[in-house]
Amino acid sequence: MTAQIIDGKAFAERLRDKVGTVAADFAKRAGRKAGLAVVLVGADAASEVYVRSKGRATLVANMASFEHRLPADTAQGDLLALVERLNADPAVDGILVQLPLPQGLDEQTIISAISPDKDVDGFHVTNAGRLAVGQEGFVPCTPLGCMMLLTDRLGDLSSLNAVVIGRSNIVGKPMAQLLLDANATVTIAHSRTKDLADVVRRADIVVAAVGRPEMVRGDWIKPGATIIDVGINRLPPEEGAEKGRLVGDVAFTEASEHAGAITPVPGGVGPMTIAVLLRNTLVAAYRNEGIALPDGAL
Ligand code: NDP
Repeated sequence: MTAQIIDGKAFAERLRDKVGTVAADFAKRAGRKAGLAVVLVGADAASEVYVRSKGRATLVANMASFEHRLPADTAQGDLLALVERLNADPAVDGILVQLPLPQGLDEQTIISAISPDKDVDGFHVTNAGRLAVGQEGFVPCTPLGCMMLLTDRLGDLSSLNAVVIGRSNIVGKPMAQLLLDANATVTIAHSRTKDLADVVRRADIVVAAVGRPEMVRGDWIKPGATIIDVGINRLPPEEGAEKGRLVGDVAFTEASEHAGAITPVPGGVGPMTIAVLLRNTLVAAYRNEGIALPDGAL
């Protein structure tokens, strides 16, 4: 069997186009654009790249982008004061504080200070709670993007066995929750799981969010299973090359011989994250203005 490739890049482009169209409708109705504020503390190179691409994507999607860059030695009180200003600013619908934060700043305290109604990353404990009890809130962008790819491919997930490898608050746990809400039978695996290969062999759906290059091998995969590879790992550079290759947590070539469908790395889950961030920001904007989101729009 050769797996079908789940083209996350193309899916994300369609979602961003849709968000752009709906955002233009929002701007007409609200008399202002939906706004996303991104806060970057310090000069981490990878974070800088993410923040720039988030800013660009926001503008292309007919939304307003507010970037706040603070020095690495910013005091926690100053960062909290900025978050409070953004909470109170009616032009800002979504607030994203780029993680990781420099040493000396407590991520949980900062995230807790963001208004849950502007927490478009879905990391606030109120939104985690809302997801856990099935209330409307904001769901973290990466797992929500994975879920969109899965339902697009499989439709109804009832009766399917799903294994999520990884139990972080930003990917593994919310992913498992979303799969459970969709009536899949869910197993969460982690670093203490015994016989991971056997656990994975029973799965119709595998979501790998570990951060270990090519850990999930081809012969772990049940024939026909759907594989969502969240991992982004850079291998050491080969001789003469400046940079190593990017790979996922799944050995792609091997797994493709067994799976029914699989996301590539890059070009699978990665592009979905920003597209869903824009979608969450637009949903926040409609809610903040008390305007109904057009039916089935997003
Ligand atoms: P974390 O490091 O927070 O979590 C990793 C999880 O993997 C932990 O729950 C850990 O278990 C588990 N784990 C570690 N080793 C093993 C093992 N040998 N067997 C089974 N489970 C194991 O990572 P994140 O959830 O933040 O991210 C996971 C991956 O996804 C990373 O590669 C990251 O770069 C990528 N990522 C990609 C995004 C995208 O946009 N595509 C967005 C976010 C993340 P334990 O809890 O027991 O320690």
